[in-house]
Amino acid sequence: MDEKFYRWLVQLIRDGQLKKFYDCARWRKLRREAIKRDNNECQMCKHLGRYHRVENVHHIKEVKDRPDLALDINNLICLCVDHHNEVHDRYLSIEEKKQKKLESFKNFDPRERW
Ligand SMILES: [Zn+2]
Ligand SMILES: [Zn+2]
Repeated sequence: MDEKFYRWLVQLIRDGQLKKFYDCARWRKLRREAIKRDNNECQMCKHLGRYHRVENVHHIKEVKDRPDLALDINNLICLCVDHHNEVHDRYLSIEEKKQKKLESFKNFDPRERW
């Protein structure tokens, strides 16, 4: 990754504009390469002896933590939506999980129960 790209990426992270990275040609090209490498399969499903086509290409080390690895194919893994969610859930700290639970309680409407 060149210096210019790296700086641009760091700025996007600061501005909360990572979507722009996911729209850029360099990411899209690398994403295609990762999908090809992983035979269009969710690698976690594969590990479980199942087949599911790729829905998300995930950064093992998250872009916001390691922008230098954003374009490193060895930092990418192809996953289905379910496994992608699972992986991201795992990253949440216990505090964040508690917060999530609290929020679901807040949205709970007892009148809907019968
Ligand atoms: Zn999967
Ligand atoms: Zn991800």
